[in-house]
Amino acid sequence: MEFLTTMGLEVHCELSTKTKIFCSCSTEFGGEPNTHVCEVCTGMPGSLPMLNEQVVEYAIRTGLATNCTITQYNKFDRKNYFYPDLPKAYQVSQLYMPICQNGHIDIEVNGVKKAIRIKEIHMEEDAGKLIHDPWDDCSLVDYNRCGVPLLEIVSEPDFESGDEVIAYLTKLKSILQYIDVSDCKMEQGSLRADVNLSVRPVGQTELGTRTEMKNINSFKAIARAIEGERKRQIEVITDGKKVVQETRRWDDNKGSSFAMRSKENAQDYRYFPEPDLVPIEISDEWIEKVKNGLPELPTAKKERYIAEYGLPEYDVDIITGSKYLVKIFEKATEICGEPKEVSNWIMGEVLRMASETSTEFEDIKFNPDSLGKLIVILKNKVINRNTAKEVFEKVFTDDIDPEKYIKENGLEMVTDNGAVEAIVKAVIEANPKAVAEFKGGSAKVKGFIIGQCMKQLKGKADPGTVNKIVAEELEKL
Ligand code: ZN
Ligand code: MN
Repeated sequence: MEFLTTMGLEVHCELSTKTKIFCSCSTEFGGEPNTHVCEVCTGMPGSLPMLNEQVVEYAIRTGLATNCTITQYNKFDRKNYFYPDLPKAYQVSQLYMPICQNGHIDIEVNGVKKAIRIKEIHMEEDAGKLIHDPWDDCSLVDYNRCGVPLLEIVSEPDFESGDEVIAYLTKLKSILQYIDVSDCKMEQGSLRADVNLSVRPVGQTELGTRTEMKNINSFKAIARAIEGERKRQIEVITDGKKVVQETRRWDDNKGSSFAMRSKENAQDYRYFPEPDLVPIEISDEWIEKVKNGLPELPTAKKERYIAEYGLPEYDVDIITGSKYLVKIFEKATEICGEPKEVSNWIMGEVLRMASETSTEFEDIKFNPDSLGKLIVILKNKVINRNTAKEVFEKVFTDDIDPEKYIKENGLEMVTDNGAVEAIVKAVIEANPKAVAEFKGGSAKVKGFIIGQCMKQLKGKADPGTVNKIVAEELEKL
């Protein structure tokens, strides 16, 4: 039997506001446990929440960047559940009137374009963190994360393959980074995805029973979890059994998932309107202001780079996929005026160095101006391409100034043709055997002579010039 897979995603994204959603505690990651807390975010009786305006602004920004309609009158609801990471025993979220609705994100997989619909985006508070490791007989809880603002971005069940899921997450992450609402550090939990997945035999129209896998925090783990769960459900059905609607935990180390709890429905949470917060009213002017402040987004930027600079689509995809690469590209191009050359350097040396030093794009430290300057220096034939690559390694690792570095280390090419000529002559004289072979018709000899000359010149010569002079001198023989 052939099966179809259908998936939907719920993505939780921690916003990069300075303070929490309902109090003025810091949202900074990695503080000593329970130091970024107060009576509001630890749910002390009688404390009252006060909404952080920045969270609303970030939500509007995200909604507009993902083609959503902004719900101009929206409000918060209480989602009741008891779990020790949330001391109030409810989470303030939005159920009935989420702030953004009916959007979409365009993706492309193997040349096929597709729009993934976004059902809604709602604002909510994050919960604390349970730590189970230190002792056997108890768990510890850190409330620092309690009340950190979250956007939950809920897609329609529009995904049919793991590749589509990864393409969507990649695009969503780059949009969220472009519009500066989140650092999206998956390893720190700033971006987490829950995958709803069901399978059904080809020919069946209604969707199969779905399971949900929670908080998977790397793209690779998500791809593996999807593949694993798809296979498991197909096996269950082929064995004549029924898939149970439940939440499952994906164990990436074991490469398998196990049941956590039967899936709750909305009514299990006894949602009701949050009585401690007034509804939010968003004016046309506010939306207009946010819209005008949006930067150029990945898709528009991609199209412009192709039209304006004639760069290959593959290269543009990679560069515009990360706002950090975009920054390098735009700054360096501003300095040297050579977009193609800058793009080649990014695709070649920048990506190579990032991979060799295991540096994430957001952690690349060098001043992009330096790449622009290096390209100008190369174009002016002060150094040759090999030297430029060596200098760039230093730019990448130590953020050195290329001009200064080249001077200090005497890396300029020998531009004096007389000096090059003298070396060529000396090399030819020192290699009578090679010369004899050349006269005997061996063309390889020229390359050998050039190599010897470059060695004598310590690589600091324009290969074109050396080539030309060697050819001339050999002609004279
Ligand atoms: Zn607080
Ligand atoms: Mn949620």
